[in-house]
Amino acid sequence: MISVNKVQPGPAFQSGRYKVIKKLPNMICACCGQKVIDSDSAAKAWAAATKPLSTNMKKGAMDYWFEKYPQIGEIFQKFAKLYPKKSLDKIICDDTNFAELLSAATADVIKLKKFKKGTDPTQAARNILYGAQMNSRTHMRSANIVMQRFAAFKDKLHGVKKDIFEQLQIYAKKYPRKTISEIINMDDIYKFHAMKDLLQRTETREKMDYHFANIKEFVTGKRPDLAETIDNLKLKALDTYDHTRDPNQRLFQIRELYLDFLKENHLEILRWKILDELKHFPPSFTTVDSFLAYARNHGYSDGAIIASLLFPSMNSFEHIIPKSKNGGDKYSNGLVFCRECNRNRDDIPYKEFLQYHPEMIVYTQKQMDLISQYILNGNLPAEYNFYPIKTSRLLYQYSDGAINLDIKNYCKKALVLSKKRMEEKKNALDEAQYSRDKNIQKKAELEQELESVNANIDNLNKQVNSLIFDTGIEDSLQTKILNYLDDKKD
Ligand SMILES: [Zn+2]
Repeated sequence: MISVNKVQPGPAFQSGRYKVIKKLPNMICACCGQKVIDSDSAAKAWAAATKPLSTNMKKGAMDYWFEKYPQIGEIFQKFAKLYPKKSLDKIICDDTNFAELLSAATADVIKLKKFKKGTDPTQAARNILYGAQMNSRTHMRSANIVMQRFAAFKDKLHGVKKDIFEQLQIYAKKYPRKTISEIINMDDIYKFHAMKDLLQRTETREKMDYHFANIKEFVTGKRPDLAETIDNLKLKALDTYDHTRDPNQRLFQIRELYLDFLKENHLEILRWKILDELKHFPPSFTTVDSFLAYARNHGYSDGAIIASLLFPSMNSFEHIIPKSKNGGDKYSNGLVFCRECNRNRDDIPYKEFLQYHPEMIVYTQKQMDLISQYILNGNLPAEYNFYPIKTSRLLYQYSDGAINLDIKNYCKKALVLSKKRMEEKKNALDEAQYSRDKNIQKKAELEQELESVNANIDNLNKQVNSLIFDTGIEDSLQTKILNYLDDKKD
């Protein structure tokens, strides 16, 4: 067998140790509050995008090969008719088919001079076939089918990814025969998005420059000597903007830069004016257009596009005490975050993180309420009964009191529930004891009965014995009579 099977293993949706709380239905991110996607569903979505199509499902899939390599194209078409339900991938994997395809491909390669001088044309032909196989796995499913299967996840996609998804849905309806990657590679579509992206970026930069200029005017109005410092500060701010991943964090850090500057130069009177200017900075450059242009420039396959839409909203185990600070994998050290938020938090202390993600307090409470409900309903193993208590205590300690969850309600309900369970157990115990006592009594009764039965048996035995004895006497009497009569005869 030719080993052409290991083309694309797929993204690692299942990484790390998965905790039970992550898999609870309707789970939300404790940081941004959006719904998270579990890894099983993500793997299904990815499979929908990359599972090879049967050859006759997508007519015209062979056109590319027919145009580019006429002999291979012809064989492909022959196979498509011969095995209408088999995927191209499987057809190529078959030894006999592969041999036939290889000889056609080699003929094409030689005829079209598609191999480097001094190299083996057969190897070049092999590579073409491997490419075809890879394509059958990643590029040959029609966008319309993929988007239909993928639609179930739409509500769980985060931020701009949802907009990208909607845009792709529109395109999939417009070009149902093409694959997603074929669509984003279409010249018109690429040019349209690349141009829009460029315009947006230019506009954003201009807008930022306008506000930077205003800030400079305020400062130099009070202190003309600070003109150069404020220019340098602008460069530093732009650098922060470009190199900080978390959009909230980058705006926060720029704010801090300016506030420090004002403090140092005793210009705090300008504080509100400057903060007002900074408010106009957009949090991110990532848009539908920038994504589509980027995906095309980096040769994204359908699988890669689907994965990059899914990944940010997938569930992940957020270590309250980060692993880098010896935080363990224990359930009490964990919250559920989406991957995006998890990556943004990294190992930043909560006290700092909360300054640019204040919403986390609300959503952590919401998640804790959700998990508590699952515990109270008995949907989690018993060890989780202490999860809300242990975890909220840890959060309180590790955030220096900034995250102070309210779990009074849970504790009350859990107490009532545990009292009820105790009561139930006590009742069950009482019942068991009662039936045990009853059985003991019954046993005693039975024993007594057994004794009287035994006595009866003894009695009967005696009677039998005496009867046997009597019968013996009878026997000898009869013998004696018979003997007597015999004697008389003589
Ligand atoms: Zn999140």
